[in-house]
Amino acid sequence: MEFLNTLFDEAIRFLGVRHIFEILQSGNYSSLLTYDGLRAAIGPLIPFLLILEIIRAAIFKRFKASEYKVVFLLYIFNRFASRFISIAAVAFCIGLFEKYAIVKTSFTWYWFIYGYIIWEFSHFIYHYFGHKVRAFWCLHSTHHALEHMNLSVTYAHFILEAPYADVIRTSICIIMGVNPPLLFLIMFIDGTWGAFIHIGENILKDGRLGFLNKIILTPSHHRVHHARNPLYMDTNFCNLLNIWDKVFKTYQDEKTEIKPEYGITREMNSHNFLDVYFGEIVCLAKDVYRAPGLKNKLLYIIMPPGWSHTGDHKTAKLTKQHYIKEVEQQKRQPMSDPALQPLTELSA
Ligand SMILES: [Zn+2]
Ligand SMILES: [Zn+2]
Repeated sequence: MEFLNTLFDEAIRFLGVRHIFEILQSGNYSSLLTYDGLRAAIGPLIPFLLILEIIRAAIFKRFKASEYKVVFLLYIFNRFASRFISIAAVAFCIGLFEKYAIVKTSFTWYWFIYGYIIWEFSHFIYHYFGHKVRAFWCLHSTHHALEHMNLSVTYAHFILEAPYADVIRTSICIIMGVNPPLLFLIMFIDGTWGAFIHIGENILKDGRLGFLNKIILTPSHHRVHHARNPLYMDTNFCNLLNIWDKVFKTYQDEKTEIKPEYGITREMNSHNFLDVYFGEIVCLAKDVYRAPGLKNKLLYIIMPPGWSHTGDHKTAKLTKQHYIKEVEQQKRQPMSDPALQPLTELSA
């Protein structure tokens, strides 16, 4: 019985419905209009959508247990430690940097817009370096290792990724004057949207969300971010407002003729929890061990994934350059290989 109680408690926690039950029981619906009430109402949205996604996949016989197995293990593994480390990291950075804030903001709509733009910048920074510095890629790659897209991917993270992300994001925001209440509201919106953009093709076939695709970052943009197609690699680092991807030229639309292929480029077994979780760390350790000299060993840790001390680099940047060159060559000789014709439509 004890076990069933624990299981029930865990299910309630995962669904995030405890608070909303309390509100419903008390009959005090006006509390739904408060920040906490709103959180309680919106919080369960993603877990319920995920369950809906699984049910739909089951009805249409597209349910593959293997797609959820590794994420389930990741969720269990991260459930206890990660959240606490992350909350501690946020609190620590607020305490450390609040006195150095360059402006003083308050809880108003214009400071909210300011705060959101700063938050999105800090998210871009954390995420960009998560892809471009091999040591940070070890923390972020778990999120990219799965070869499918659905809401469960939201829960696929390495245990130290949230603290790494939150130290960078909180520090930048606090120094730029985003005050803690504003920051928590923004974090909540960011977390909810950041989960929603992982919605799979099973529920939402076209992730562009119509005209919204022009204004904000949609599931379609994030599908591109998770893809290993050369044109799509290392693009769309933002979360809701993709202004910084446009500023730093990492913005990429989903092309109808290039279907995203999810996953990372190294050979791996995406159904193996250990490979998904520790695979990149093992690869980096091997590279560092084999590299000649201290300088090369250090460079492996800080250079982008694919960098090699031999000069034979296979970074995302080079892969994309080769691909674009190939496409341009085909444009010049359009009749040479008819199978490659659709690529001539591409604008890099
Ligand atoms: Zn990423
Ligand atoms: Zn993602």
